[in-house]
Amino acid sequence: MSPGDHRLVMFGAPGSGKGTQAALLAETLRVPAISTGEMLRAAVAAGTDLGHRVQAIMAAGALVDDGTMADVVRDRLAADDARRGFILDGYPRTIVQAEALERLLEERGQRLQAVLHVRVPEEELVRRALARQRADDIEEIIRERLRVYREQTRPLAAWYRDRDLLVAVDGHQSIEEVAAALAAIVLEVG
Ligand code: ADP
Repeated sequence: MSPGDHRLVMFGAPGSGKGTQAALLAETLRVPAISTGEMLRAAVAAGTDLGHRVQAIMAAGALVDDGTMADVVRDRLAADDARRGFILDGYPRTIVQAEALERLLEERGQRLQAVLHVRVPEEELVRRALARQRADDIEEIIRERLRVYREQTRPLAAWYRDRDLLVAVDGHQSIEEVAAALAAIVLEVG
């Protein structure tokens, strides 16, 4: 597999394992895995202005506004390590964000290679979420995250399918099996 020059989005529900897979694939491809959730959590932990603005929104399981997210992603993609590619994890989460990403890449003379959809049945998502409940997560928040995903984020699958960018893998397998399936796809899409 050739290093660099991979521009990918890891797409999936909360609990789909997309974060784990983004990190594994990033190592294989030698491009950064960019998790917007992790970036926001770091901002909250560091007590930055951004952190203060998003803390309550995140705690409620809601989405941070699209304008803020566009700024966060623009800055991150401008960093040196993202010059030769990236795997986005947790962005885009709305159609508006997908349009913003398309414009941002266009300005850079780039486009996405593929959107990798890690698919897991809803009942398995709920089971996983309840099993690995974080200390600060209550069931209500978990359900809210899944609801937001269903209503705002899942429609992106069809949006990317229309653009011939969506590739699905079965996420209801072992971590290694999912990783192997994703690596095979990336080989195919170049
Ligand atoms: P998960 O726990 O579902 O993997 P993430 O770690 O990706 O979620 O994100 C945690 C939280 O950060 C989200 O619930 C949301 O409040 C916020 N967030 C992350 N990425 C985005 C985004 N692209 N748009 C809006 N909000 C986001």
